[in-house]
Amino acid sequence: MSDISTTDPIDERAEAELLRTELDEVEAALARLDDGTYGTCRVCGATIPDAVLEQRPQAGLCGDHQG
Ligand SMILES: [Zn+2]
Repeated sequence: MSDISTTDPIDERAEAELLRTELDEVEAALARLDDGTYGTCRVCGATIPDAVLEQRPQAGLCGDHQG
């Protein structure tokens, strides 16, 4: 009898949640592309640096407001 599990259901749920959050961010970024506000901070409207967009194309916050 073995109760050793290689997959942790809690980790899988956390990972799914993370993916869902990223998907939401990507969809929000696509919506901002449509309305012409892509690349600007959702909080202050500042232009998001290219370096940030290169790392996270779906970024919706400037350096001051993310994290
Ligand atoms: Zn900002």
